[in-house]
Amino acid sequence: MNKNPFLFDAHDLPRRPGEMREYELTIDTHEAMGFEVLSIAADEPIDIDLRIESVSEGILATATVRTQALGECGRCLDPVSYDIEESFQELYEYVEDPRQARKKSKAGKKKPAKSEEDEDLDEDLLRQMDGEMMDLDGPIRDAIILNLPINPLCSHGCAGLCPDCGVKRSELPADHEHAPSNIRWAGLENWEGPTGD
Ligand SMILES: [Zn+2]
Ligand SMILES: [Zn+2]
Repeated sequence: MNKNPFLFDAHDLPRRPGEMREYELTIDTHEAMGFEVLSIAADEPIDIDLRIESVSEGILATATVRTQALGECGRCLDPVSYDIEESFQELYEYVEDPRQARKKSKAGKKKPAKSEEDEDLDEDLLRQMDGEMMDLDGPIRDAIILNLPINPLCSHGCAGLCPDCGVKRSELPADHEHAPSNIRWAGLENWEGPTGD
């Protein structure tokens, strides 16, 4: 994907403090986000209620982001879905001369590895307009990923799997347990099943 789907063109907003515009956006295709156990698929729509306000230094973006993450329960491995609704507010500063900004960031990439961390930090703290364009990728990604549960569960009290036979505890009788010899017999029964009887 070459084009950044999170680039927003703010040319409709007059550069006059107090001016405001509101948008409802849906991004249908984007990079997948999240972790192995819980992620937002690349074709999962992300809905964004976006308000942009003109302030003296730039444009203030206030947004609510809604989407759905899919994954599996950390205890019983059942599929789980997780509704996401997060908000953020970011100031995008005007850049006097856009060519200047681009030069700066190019120079930054050429610097030795030692200073790369500082560059990243600066980028996080300061967002800039690229002409009329606002790159909403960072704040949207942060709002979604930083709030994803790392250990998702299908239900609050999920009892997980029996460590011996791997069957879900919710589907087993309460007194289900394995005596050491039973495990061996269980295996033997399974092996003999198809040929016998
Ligand atoms: Zn579960
Ligand atoms: Zn068991």
